[in-house]
Order: sequence, then C-alpha cells, then structure tokens
Amino acid sequence: MSAQLIDGKAFAEGLRQKVGVLAAEFEKQAARKAGLAVVLVGEDPASQVYVRSKGKQTVACGMASFEYKLPATASEEELLKLVEKLNGDRFIDGILVQLPLPGHMDEQKVIATINPDKDVDGFHIINAGRLAVGQEGFVPCTPLGCLMLLKDRLGDLSGLEAVVIGRSNIVGKPMAQLLIQESCTVTVAHSRTTDLPGVVRRADIVVAAVGRPEMVKVDWIKPGATVIDVGINRLPPEPGQEKGRLVGDVDFASVREVAGAITPVPGGVGPMTIAVLLRNALVAAYRNEGLTLASDAL
Ligand code: NDP
Repeated sequence: MSAQLIDGKAFAEGLRQKVGVLAAEFEKQAARKAGLAVVLVGEDPASQVYVRSKGKQTVACGMASFEYKLPATASEEELLKLVEKLNGDRFIDGILVQLPLPGHMDEQKVIATINPDKDVDGFHIINAGRLAVGQEGFVPCTPLGCLMLLKDRLGDLSGLEAVVIGRSNIVGKPMAQLLIQESCTVTVAHSRTTDLPGVVRRADIVVAAVGRPEMVKVDWIKPGATVIDVGINRLPPEPGQEKGRLVGDVDFASVREVAGAITPVPGGVGPMTIAVLLRNALVAAYRNEGLTLASDAL
C-alpha cells in the first residue's frame, strides 16, 4: 500500500496563519510589530532568493522585516559591529545572519556575537546547550519543523525507534536531541556508520539529512515507518531541459510503497523551515517584551 503523504506545504501555511494571528495580538499588546532582521553578506544567488522570501513572508505574517546587505568585501569587524547594533535595537526581536558567509569570515564567531535571546536560527552555542539540557531556548528551524510534522502525524512519539542519518549542527544533532526529548530511542548515523541499511531497518521514524540524492533505498525501510526527507538535491538536467529535478535523500518512488508516511521533495520539509523561523521570531518578540504566549500556541 502506498504511504500517506505528509504535506509540509499545507502544514507550513497553517503555521504561518497562526503566527499571523498572534503577531497581530503582539502588536496590540506591545504597541509595535515584532521585528526580524536578516543580514546578507555578498551576492550568492541562492542566499538572495532565501532572504527575499524570508522578508516577504515576515511582512505577510504582520511582522516587520529589516534587511541588511553587506558587500562580499566587507570585513568581519563590520559584520560584527552590525550584529552588535542589532542586538541593542529594541525593535528587532530576531537576528538571522544568512549562511554561508564569505571565506574570510569566521561563522562561529559571528553566530557567537548574536544575542542568544535574538538567535532565532538556534545556532548559538547557548541555544545548542539549552536544547541539550532541555531548557527553553531557540531550536534550529529545520529540525523543529520535522518534529512538528512527526507529532502531527504520529501524536505521542514515546518509545519509538528513531534513526537520524546525518550529524550536522544545524539538522542532524538538534533533530536527535528533539527526538530524545520526545522519549524516542535515537540512533544517529553518519558517513562512518557500518551497515547503514541494517541500522535504518530498525527505525519506526527515519530522518534523512545527508545531502545525497535518493540514497535511502526501499529495502532499508521497515514497513509502516514514517520517513522524513530533509535532503534537497538538484539532479543534473535531462537532455533538452534547462534545470535538473529536485530530489531528496530518499528514493521516494519506491520507498513510498513500503513506508507508512513520507514527506515529498519538494513540498515536505522545505516549506517548514521559513514558517518555523517566523514562529521563532514571534516567540522571541513575546519573550523580549515579557508577554505571555501559551506554550502550545505555536
Ligand atoms: P551536512 O553536509 O552538514 O551533513 C551531512 C551529514 O550526512 C553528515 O553528518 C555526513 O556524515 C552524513 N553523510 C554524508 N554521506 C553519508 C553517507 N554516505 N552515509 C551516511 N551519512 C552520510 O548537511 P546538512 O545537515 O546541512 O544538510 C543535509 C541535507 O539537508 C542537504 O541536502 C541540505 O540541502 C538539506 N537541508 C535542507 C533544509 C530544508 O530547509 N529543507 C535545511 C538544511 C539542510 P559525516 O558527519 O560523517 O561527514
């Protein structure tokens, strides 16, 4: 039987609507809009597209969007000064520095300069630590979006076997932490894992965050498992076409015949990332103004 499709696009739309309602409520109570600042250094075309899209969606949700652009030749010191200025600006609740940064800048140093209470990407070491010990903080947007989709589909995750493929700081590791908090039994696999198919076969939940097109095969999947595909890979164009197809890290066409539920690519995890960013920015705004937001509101 074919797996149920997990519609991340529809879920993200629902989340943005909730953010919109609560952003209007925030504006009433705080007499200002919640504000998200996005900093872009250089002219990377993919980053420009993301930043534009983030700005548009921020405004569409009733929040204020502040965009700062620095040339690729800007010094690290200039960027750090800008981040410090934004840290001190009370109209800015969330700060996102678009990665990757040009090679002469130290990303970790830049992230460490963001006020952790404005770090809506959840990349600051303080927020990584808060997540690790189960304290309230900001959780990176993509794994939090994956968790929302999983809970929406499965409800209580407690006792389930979860395998996360990938151990990056922005997806794999925080994903594993979130699943531990949900009382899953979590295995984190990576490029040195021996017998990856055997490890994945144990899983009730598979989260693939690898960056290798269609790597996860149908015979790795336990029948009925829930499969979350984080990967975004563009295949080379077919002859006569300009652009190649976008595929995930999971061999979707075959895996969907065995899995219980699966996220498509595109339209699965991808749309969740910006929606969760907006959610995090609004949560930051409520916290920064000392206003109460119900813990299950978003
Ligand atoms: P990274 O490259 O930082 O990490 C990839 C991970 O996959 C590493 O831990 C690596 O292991 C592991 N890996 C690589 N090859 C293999 C292999 N053959 N077998 C098992 N594990 C392997 O990637 P990210 O975490 O940043 O991103 C992963 C994917 O998710 C990418 O396709 C990216 O485009 C996508 N992505 C999508 C987002 C969205 O909004 N939907 C947001 C962020 C990422 P090791 O540590 O041993 O090298």
